[in-house]
Amino acid sequence: MSMPNFSYVRIRSLKEAIEHLSSNGARVHAGGTDLLGCLRDNIFEAKKVVSISGLKNLRGIEEPKNGGLRIGALTTITEIADSKKVRDRYPALAKAASEVASPQLRNQGTIGGNLCQKPRCWYYRGEFHCLRKGGSTCYAYQGENQFHCIFGSGGICYITHPSDTAPALVAYQATLRIVGPKGARLVPIEKFYVLPSQDVRKETVLRPNEILTEIVLPPESKGLLSSYRKVRARQSWDFALAGVALALRLKEDRVEKARVVLSGAAPIPWRSKEAEQALAGNPLNTDTITRAVNAALKKAEPLEKNSYKIPLFRGMLEEELQAIAKR
Ligand SMILES: Cc1cc2nc3c(=O)[nH]c(=O)nc-3n(C[C@H](O)[C@H](O)[C@H](O)COP(=O)(O)OP(=O)(O)OC[C@H]3O[C@@H](n4cnc5c(N)ncnc54)[C@H](O)[C@@H]3O)c2cc1C
Ligand code: SF4
Repeated sequence: MSMPNFSYVRIRSLKEAIEHLSSNGARVHAGGTDLLGCLRDNIFEAKKVVSISGLKNLRGIEEPKNGGLRIGALTTITEIADSKKVRDRYPALAKAASEVASPQLRNQGTIGGNLCQKPRCWYYRGEFHCLRKGGSTCYAYQGENQFHCIFGSGGICYITHPSDTAPALVAYQATLRIVGPKGARLVPIEKFYVLPSQDVRKETVLRPNEILTEIVLPPESKGLLSSYRKVRARQSWDFALAGVALALRLKEDRVEKARVVLSGAAPIPWRSKEAEQALAGNPLNTDTITRAVNAALKKAEPLEKNSYKIPLFRGMLEEELQAIAKR
């Protein structure tokens, strides 16, 4: 397929970028690893592509005086996976970044693009005018749905959220800084993603003339133990079939606070509040872990071809919680 026609602008300031994005049909271009594929395959159109790669102040990892980390949206996935600051203090994020795609894509792809990438449903990526593209049917519901979701579809659209870094950032309660014509706003990452029941045409709350500029990680809390694990179908699918990001704070062997976030499970990074409740206040032993795993999968709604995800998530969640208990 050939690339459709569009104008291409390289901007020098955020203000200039937002001005260009305010014209209809303009799209942000960061590393281009997802955007250019979408344009080539006619998944959506662009009249204008606005390259933000020259905005140097959107690149890099900084330590603010009051703790935490600020990661510029143009920081590459490789830089995040390799950063000592990230590896030492937010290990689940470093691990998630190291699990993204291939080394070439990690070198080219940015964290901002990773968080804003389009879903991978093969009907959506193919020539099917499905609900998410403005059509009237979901082709996955009765079709090839082995890689689709088991939570959060609302009976509308069955995509799984594609990013590996997003679930880790939800576990760490990161905040996103978004800049638009009216200035900056801060959005907790959990509120950034949109369920099909809220709007089936959108994956995030970003408006067309807004740019994600920064990811803000809160100061790490003492005693927080975190991890990210992903299972993929080797050689055929890079994205998570099933994944889990955990952030647990233990006090004298009891779980004081837990964040359990599933990937490959739902149209958004899926917080299992049921599992979190089963863990909170209890000792991290086999009984508690079994209760948490049962609670996490109790409300799963598999489709015809993806019920294998339930035992996969059960096994993975159990192993990851056991591993944290042994630390
Ligand atoms: C073969 C393949 C395998 C992959 N496997 C994985 C995987 O296993 N795990 C995983 O997590 N990802 C995977 N990806 C996705 C990959 O990580 C993303 O393509 C990449 O991170 C996107 O970054 P980018 O800078 O190239 O974004 P771009 O392609 O430039 O942009 C992606 C989207 O985000 C928007 N955007 C980009 N930056 C901003 C910003 N700062 N503000 C607002 N909007 C923005 C663009 O308009 C576009 O819609 C894979 C991709 C491919 C092609
Ligand atoms: S799962 Fe969503 S994106 Fe895929 S065919 Fe159904 S409506 Fe379209």
